[in-house]
Amino acid sequence: MKTLALLSFLLVVCHDAVSRVSCDPGLTGSAVRLSPPGLSTASTTDSIDVKMLQKAQDLAHRISVIDCHSHNLFQPESEARPKQADFSMLQGAGVNGVVQFVPLNASGVKNPTDDILRDIKEIRQRIRDDGLKVSVVLNSREMATSCKSDSSVVLIGLEYFKGIFDGDIGQVRRYYDAGVREIGLVRRGGSDSLFVDQNLTGFGVALVRELNRLGIICDITHMPESAQQQVIDVSDSPVILSHTAAFGLVKSEFNATDATLRRLAARGGMIGIGFFSGQLSNSSLAESGRGVAWDKLSRAKVEDLVDQIDYLRKIVGIDAIGIGSDYGGSGRRAPEGLETIEGFPLIIYHMLKRGYTENEIEKVMGVNFIRFFERVEKKTTLK
Ligand SMILES: [Zn+2]
Repeated sequence: MKTLALLSFLLVVCHDAVSRVSCDPGLTGSAVRLSPPGLSTASTTDSIDVKMLQKAQDLAHRISVIDCHSHNLFQPESEARPKQADFSMLQGAGVNGVVQFVPLNASGVKNPTDDILRDIKEIRQRIRDDGLKVSVVLNSREMATSCKSDSSVVLIGLEYFKGIFDGDIGQVRRYYDAGVREIGLVRRGGSDSLFVDQNLTGFGVALVRELNRLGIICDITHMPESAQQQVIDVSDSPVILSHTAAFGLVKSEFNATDATLRRLAARGGMIGIGFFSGQLSNSSLAESGRGVAWDKLSRAKVEDLVDQIDYLRKIVGIDAIGIGSDYGGSGRRAPEGLETIEGFPLIIYHMLKRGYTENEIEKVMGVNFIRFFERVEKKTTLK
């Protein structure tokens, strides 16, 4: 059974390598050996370390693996948004939990609050109708317990660019009551302005305090740098950058500086490494500088993502690192081999190759998120 699973996994990870090899006239003859797409071009002559790949896959099934930022699990499939994660993929790859963001179809939203609450209802309905072994969890204890059972775990997050509060802090409680446990702060004009000219507004400060009070995770990924730092300082609870990468390695405007990363981690926050190739690979970033569309950028390598883990370990320590694919969003341009969630064991494979211990891998792949969520809940004053 295990051998079968490994074989099918090899087929999945080798698919791109096969097409790359057959399309590249420079890679012919006896020198060609298949490698998972995650292996860098510099190591195309390496063969897969099958034993280590098996170990990576076994480990993925033994530990709690959590994707801390995704839009895709319940998103309707379309040409623009192909299926990157479903429950059978999760089970095959040993992924236990996903933070699923709503609204599910941001481009079709007319009345943000109504549409968001309807989407959350629909998610719960679908779980019931399809008889899925899935728990929508509301706290870290449920999350930790369910990750260890054979059911998948969904935590609901909220991220929308056109305003979801309508200038009313009371809206946060409505989302909380519907099951939302993470909110991404994003720019919007009018009464929902959270920051102006890089500065947090009074409404922004009040919102952060309300998130703290309720025990909702505050995600600052989409804010400008100075506003990010102000939230870190204003917030009683630790905050998350759920899908980003280090500017110190790749100078993308979307990546976080060492100063922000250190400040966030010093207050108990965490960083989910995102999958967008333009934030992970300097050559993809350079293409983007030359005007190549985001969805045509060369895909990064899994090694680029693991370089981020190496770098962040030095800057913030292993306990502050997680994985946030942003599937269905920028993660549609994920590194080779990580086009779907089935590739998650490849991250473990490359971490094993670099000598990370099982304990360190367990932290990055899921445990850090659960512990971070616990730290957020400790600060709630909700009775
Ligand atoms: Zn997102």
